[in-house]
Amino acid sequence: MAILIIEDEKKLVDILKRALKSERYSVDVAYDGETGLEKAMKNNYSLILLDIMLPKRDGFSVCKELRTHAIHTPIIMLTARGSTEDRVTGLDAGADDYLIKPFSTSELFARIRAVLRRRKTTESNIIKIGNLVMDKKKHEVTRAGITIPLTPKEYKLLDMLLSNSGEAISRQRLIEHAWGPTFKETNNELNVHIRYLRKKIDGKKDKHLIHTIRGVGFALKE
Ligand code: CA
Repeated sequence: MAILIIEDEKKLVDILKRALKSERYSVDVAYDGETGLEKAMKNNYSLILLDIMLPKRDGFSVCKELRTHAIHTPIIMLTARGSTEDRVTGLDAGADDYLIKPFSTSELFARIRAVLRRRKTTESNIIKIGNLVMDKKKHEVTRAGITIPLTPKEYKLLDMLLSNSGEAISRQRLIEHAWGPTFKETNNELNVHIRYLRKKIDGKKDKHLIHTIRGVGFALKE
């Protein structure tokens, strides 16, 4: 399990590194916000410890940027100030939890375990491809962080495509999933709804995610 520490206090980094390694986590470090953001976008960490006051880019902005790019790696903010305002801003920016400096290693481990546990139970409710995210629990779809309102049919079609992203899904399978197994198409319903869905999901975006697979049906892929 890999943890990224984004923190500019070298002393604290050393302590964290040693503590985490003793618990068999593998550790990567970034000493400023820009580098941290780059690393978090490129690699797949299990968790990020993110300081707020950082050179080049502060922790709030790093957190926000990651969430905008649909990177949902659990984040624990490290705050020296611990004011309510900081905590609220951190959680608003998409952090999972926060720790007020100075903290004990046992407190740190407890928080890490809690966040990872919480993540595990919600993870299966979230499916995504690129910056398109479906939160099944909230029944919400976002692209690049912006909520896209969908009709129930559109939602069902997207759910099917997203749950099998990268695969070509036959027209029949899509129709059965959205309208039921006994439904007979009379007015080209599938194409009509896919067209609506495309408009909402891809619209004027450069990167289209919904693709027509000739002779088969549709696929959702990057
Ligand atoms: Ca700092």
